[in-house]
Amino acid sequence: MIIAVASGKGGTGKTTVATNLAISIGKARILDCDVEEPNANIFLKFDMEKKEDVNVLIPSIDKQKCTLCGDCVNACRYNALAMLPKDILLFPELCHGCGLCSMVCKYDAITEVPRKIGEILYGKNEEIELYQGLLNIGEAMATPIIKELKKYSNDMTIIDAPPGNACPTMEAIIDSDFVILVTEPTPFGLHDLKIAVSIVRKFGIPFGVIINKYGIGDDGVEKYCEQEGIRIMMKIPHSREIANLYSKGIPFVEKMEGWKERFIELYEEIKNETGGNS
Ligand code: SF4
Ligand code: SF4
Repeated sequence: MIIAVASGKGGTGKTTVATNLAISIGKARILDCDVEEPNANIFLKFDMEKKEDVNVLIPSIDKQKCTLCGDCVNACRYNALAMLPKDILLFPELCHGCGLCSMVCKYDAITEVPRKIGEILYGKNEEIELYQGLLNIGEAMATPIIKELKKYSNDMTIIDAPPGNACPTMEAIIDSDFVILVTEPTPFGLHDLKIAVSIVRKFGIPFGVIINKYGIGDDGVEKYCEQEGIRIMMKIPHSREIANLYSKGIPFVEKMEGWKERFIELYEEIKNETGGNS
């Protein structure tokens, strides 16, 4: 079973939920797909080692063969190629590695070469494994790293999705059996939750909502969920104790009585709904 933990907005407690859920159920594999700022290991504190580099294939143009016909420049949808009077200029950071330019070149002037955009790190303890994607600073393309990370999914995987509602988030959640949408009870939280709900509904993935920092803000999220028939699966209170533990990188299920059991119940509920065997 693959459970994705997502949120329309950053800072809502997505990683808190993903790590506390994993610790509670044990024997879980976390894929930290928040590749611009992976932070699940703040709570897990594993010694991480490099698993693999992640590359995209970019064009390399043979100037002897190139006739400067411009077909590759016209074909590139990402403006990664530009025509100069006597050269073709490549902007590697804009190249999505789609391979179209090499397909359209009639003169066989383009070969594809790997360019590293990030890496995947790995760490574990007796119960939990963590695969962490890390995008190089200045790189724009998170999706290839997320795709690579997802190859490590197993039958008990928790995906910590990147925040927001753009392509990287969609890539992270698309094959999941269930999505937990984490939000906070504020107008901003509600706004982004509505967008996130529209995405998971389009994908047809079963989902539920966890309200984090319950007690701040207003009841807009609860009213919206009621109107839309969306299940609120858990409310995590806005509490000084949780905030203190968070600031020290301590998962609150390890210190606060009863919470591990609540996360196990949450997992059982998801398992029953999805027919998961794990
Ligand atoms: S399509 Fe080929 S030959 Fe034409 S400009 Fe591009 S690399 Fe040169
Ligand atoms: S591989 Fe795709 S994105 Fe990159 S330069 Fe060629 S056409 Fe553009």
